[in-house]
Amino acid sequence: MERTLVLCKPDCMDKNLAGEVLRRFEAAGLRLSAAKLIRLDDAVLTEHYVHLKDRPFFPEILAFMKERPVLALILNGPGAVALVRDLLGPTDSRKAPKGTIRGDLGTDSMRNIAHASDSAENAEIEVRRFFLPAEIVG
Ligand code: ADP
Repeated sequence: MERTLVLCKPDCMDKNLAGEVLRRFEAAGLRLSAAKLIRLDDAVLTEHYVHLKDRPFFPEILAFMKERPVLALILNGPGAVALVRDLLGPTDSRKAPKGTIRGDLGTDSMRNIAHASDSAENAEIEVRRFFLPAEIVG
């Protein structure tokens, strides 16, 4: 059993697609063990996207991710990290295949509907970044 951290991003929330995204994860057999709406700030975003802080589009990402509250989820299942990344598709929604969440619902390389942890190790770090132990069930 593995767990992964998902953020339904502001474009997803703006388009009223959080339910559709969660439906796809549940249909793939993943189980929800935590969920909450969070308003992100520069401090947590700079920590979360530290690998991008020297990229020219970094300020745009900060502004985008603060547009409205995001839905943070923890999803559990065998191979959850890779399964969720496969369901999402590649970063650039324009290049993501049809049938993937980003390919079907996203706009471009920034407005791509959802974040998902890219390794089991990062998933554990991200779970701790966004959730208190008491907020996690199972
Ligand atoms: P992923 O979210 O697929 O793991 P990255 O960690 O590389 O991808 O990037 C984090 C987020 O930063 C992306 O999901 C996207 O919102 C934004 N981003 C990445 N590359 C670009 C880009 N070239 N232009 C604008 N935003 C980008």
